[in-house]
Formats: sequence, C-alpha cells, structure tokens
Amino acid sequence: MVNERKCPACAKWTDGHKTHCTHCGALTDPALIAEEIRKEREEEREAYMFINESKAIKKLKGLKESDKTFHRIIFYIADTLFTIYMAILSFIVWLIALVSG
Ligand SMILES: [Zn+2]
Repeated sequence: MVNERKCPACAKWTDGHKTHCTHCGALTDPALIAEEIRKEREEEREAYMFINESKAIKKLKGLKESDKTFHRIIFYIADTLFTIYMAILSFIVWLIALVSG
C-alpha cells in the first residue's frame, strides 16, 4: 500500500486516508494529533491559572463583571478607595524620605 501510517498508540500500520487507526481507533492524522495536543495544553494552562488565582481576585473580578449595577458600583468605589489609599501611602513614604534625607 502507498499511503499508510503507523499508529502512535498500537504501532500497527493503518490506512493513511483515515484519521483514526483501523485497529484501535486512536488518532493517526498528524494535524489532528497536533490540534489535540494544543487543546490539551490550553486546558492545562487554564486549569493552572484557575488554581493560582486567589479567592480575593476572583471575588473582585466577579464584582467587576457582575450583571448587577450595584455590584459594579461597589467594585469601582473599592477600586477608587484603594487608589487613594496607595496615593496617601506613597505620599507618607515620600515625606519620610524627605525628612531623613
Ligand atoms: Zn492503533
């Protein structure tokens, strides 16, 4: 036969025109296998990011993307307060540096 592929799962030669092994049913099409691997990696990456995202960040994101206007308002108020808090903090740090210098 001209067009045959070796199955990566069972190592038997199978019809190259088919995307799956005729013996065990595993994928033999290189393009489809590459696509499968790419999808798996994407899923792994998403799972990894999901684990690493802390509960506080998830809550904040939930507020920002909430359908309720009230939740979004709370998010923007908290966001603004945090910005002001950081501004005051950096001003104090600047003052300390000014006095000691
Ligand atoms: Zn096979």
